Amino acid sequence: MRLIFIGPPGSGKGTQAKLLSQRLDLRHIATGDILREVIQKNTEVGQKAKPYMDAGQLVPDDVVNEIVDVRFRSDDRPRRFVMDGYPRTIVQAQSFDATLHDVGLDLDAVIFLKVADEEIIRRISSRWSCSQCGAIYNTASNPPKEAGVCDLDRRPLMQREDDQAETVAKRLKIFHDQYDALVEHYRKKNLLLEVPGVGDIETIHANIRKALQARNIQ
Ligand code: AMP
Repeated sequence: MRLIFIGPPGSGKGTQAKLLSQRLDLRHIATGDILREVIQKNTEVGQKAKPYMDAGQLVPDDVVNEIVDVRFRSDDRPRRFVMDGYPRTIVQAQSFDATLHDVGLDLDAVIFLKVADEEIIRRISSRWSCSQCGAIYNTASNPPKEAGVCDLDRRPLMQREDDQAETVAKRLKIFHDQYDALVEHYRKKNLLLEVPGVGDIETIHANIRKALQARNIQ
């Protein structure tokens, strides 16, 4: 089984990609993790990627493509995998399609975890954490007993800066700018599986498994 996972921030994409890889014994490949690793090791690629990561920008396509390409062209390439965070642009998708095709490992499906923008904004902007102990609350699904106060140590709750509604809206815009074209790219190739990203973790996982089974992907 060879899959790509796509989903907006706050859709649970990372959680679902990891869960699926554990349950189906797939290699979970997250380019964000690989990039953090090469930066930590201070390799040549790491040095190229660092300024972009530090600025919260996308690392240039040729740098990321090179990292992925080397893995998939080596003899111990994964044959069963889930990509998480790659490809992120059409140029990356074209490069990945070509590499996989060359090594005879074409994709089986691209899972798109669909969550409406309003729901994403509601989910992320209702996340609060304790300024002292870090305990996490959600004013919609897991509210503190007293508004704005931590149940455990009575300290004030705060919101991560990038979880505030306005910033979330900006992150969503970036997501659409990057991913709408990708979704279309894979839809045209008849690889796109749209799965609703609503409900609890196990329900969403079951929906993903059903969508894969319906296409006879294993
Ligand atoms: P992530 O862990 O997926 O949120 O990625 C963290 C950061 O790594 C991003 O903000 C980008 O700077 C970089 N990154 C990860 N994957 C890619 C990719 N496919 N293309 C470009 N930059 C990436």
